[in-house]
Amino acid sequence: MFEQDRIVVRFDKRSHNLILREAALDESNQKMKRITLFSWGYWGWGNSVKKFVEATDAIESARGYGSPIFADIRIRRSVRAKGFNGNAFEKIVRAERYVWLKDLGNQAVADGAGGIEIANPKAAADLLDLAIKSAEDRRRVIFFCACQIPARCHRSKVARLVLREAKKRGLNLEIIEWPGGDPLEMNVEAPKTAIAALSRGLKYIPIGNRVDLARLGSVPWGSTVNLQNGSQSEPFVTGPACFQVSQWYLPVLNLDDEVDRWRKVNGYVARSSV
Ligand SMILES: [Zn+2]
Repeated sequence: MFEQDRIVVRFDKRSHNLILREAALDESNQKMKRITLFSWGYWGWGNSVKKFVEATDAIESARGYGSPIFADIRIRRSVRAKGFNGNAFEKIVRAERYVWLKDLGNQAVADGAGGIEIANPKAAADLLDLAIKSAEDRRRVIFFCACQIPARCHRSKVARLVLREAKKRGLNLEIIEWPGGDPLEMNVEAPKTAIAALSRGLKYIPIGNRVDLARLGSVPWGSTVNLQNGSQSEPFVTGPACFQVSQWYLPVLNLDDEVDRWRKVNGYVARSSV
């Protein structure tokens, strides 16, 4: 009996040390592991919310993640965009994938003043907590506002606050405008009408209603796509595909600058806490 007790004690001590060691490893893994948080502007998506959600789910799934969680950082939700007015967006993605962080809204908008003043900067910790909690389920968070250009929106300021909080906690956090990634060059088979649209100078190139969303929905901002049809190949600078009325389009970005600079100035480059 006595002998057995000693064995038990010894075993416990050993497993206790093991547990401690594993916990320390876990903690350092947690600290080293990079968490990615996306920012996004719903500009242009007001009538196609379901398509946007469909695209994000396909893209994140292809990247090995679960469906993303949405953090709404608007100070108020009464807007003209149908899919984002009131709780319309929340109803589509459902409550478990949606959180309204009103505290991270732009108080200046509510006050009718110009500029950017985050309602409660401390709430940046809540957004970081959400990103950490979601990462445990291999899901990532997209925080959003309405504005098109990230650098001109208060989400840029919110990103700074969240990165500062992550740095304070010793976490490796990266924030990038959805869908993320560095510009690349890719070939896309397209009908002649798409090439014709490009040569006519249209701002959106129609690519049909059955597209590979994981691929074309995640085109990094500032990428070059070669539209191909037979022996024809027409390059243009673009970003992620968007949906309008009845089909998908690739936007034509007429940059007045070289791509890397354009990305930097407008807020499309990843920022990191380490
Ligand atoms: Zn904004």
